[in-house]
Amino acid sequence: MFAGLDPADLEARELVRAAANKTREEFIRDKYLFAPSDIREKAYSLAERRVSGEPLAYLIGEWDFYGLTLKVTKDVLIPRCDTEVLVDVALKRNVSESFRFLDLCTGCGCIGIAIAANRGGCRGVLADNSQKAIDVARENIKSHKLTDRLICVLADVRNKAVENLGRFDLIVANPPYIPASDMEGLDSSVKDFEPAAALCGGADGLDYYRAILDGWLCLLKTGGLIAFECGINQADEIKKLMRGYGIRQIRQKKDTGGIPRVVSGIKGV
Ligand code: GLN
Repeated sequence: MFAGLDPADLEARELVRAAANKTREEFIRDKYLFAPSDIREKAYSLAERRVSGEPLAYLIGEWDFYGLTLKVTKDVLIPRCDTEVLVDVALKRNVSESFRFLDLCTGCGCIGIAIAANRGGCRGVLADNSQKAIDVARENIKSHKLTDRLICVLADVRNKAVENLGRFDLIVANPPYIPASDMEGLDSSVKDFEPAAALCGGADGLDYYRAILDGWLCLLKTGGLIAFECGINQADEIKKLMRGYGIRQIRQKKDTGGIPRVVSGIKGV
């Protein structure tokens, strides 16, 4: 969108657009129309919040991920471009046209929705332990017309797997992974605005990986792929955990910053 624009100009445009409650198409079409004072005031107040550090995504209530515009609220993490690597890994896997997948710790649903939007025959279950996150994911599923293939369940991966979900060809997860002692040092745009529960992964950041492997791997079919997003310096430890659960063909993939960001492997017999 708006290629070639200075980032500050782009943010300013997005704030005015949000204040005017217009789509990007309407905004470009109407850009010379007079803005009434209530829209101007709203734009100024959004700009003030932006200057105080509030992320643009929360101010405009949406963010783009894998070419899809998704609703976001303060109850979910803002989708990161690093996470697109996880979708790439999932989509690269040659599974049958009609595969079933499970997206754990789905948040706004970005990973599951991107997979479903790019593979017409698949079906997915998107799980999160926050009802508010589930509500956002449901809205995104609806707006992308995927209600016939995606469902949401309220589930905490730190408990054993929910029964009656069936078995899956693919499990993906971007769980909270920031070590507790690193939380204080996060950028204030993250620490002060994004939900801590979606970020903090316990003392070493790996609590959710252990819980998923321990309680949810049983839902993956033999030969199925499990793929995790992970934090900086966590890939080796996660690979070790995966090996302990009989996962084979373990691979890692770097993000655009060169950090190993996705670890994946195949469930053995
Ligand atoms: N990538 C996010 C961050 O560094 C963390 C996401 C997560 O914990 N899953 O802010």
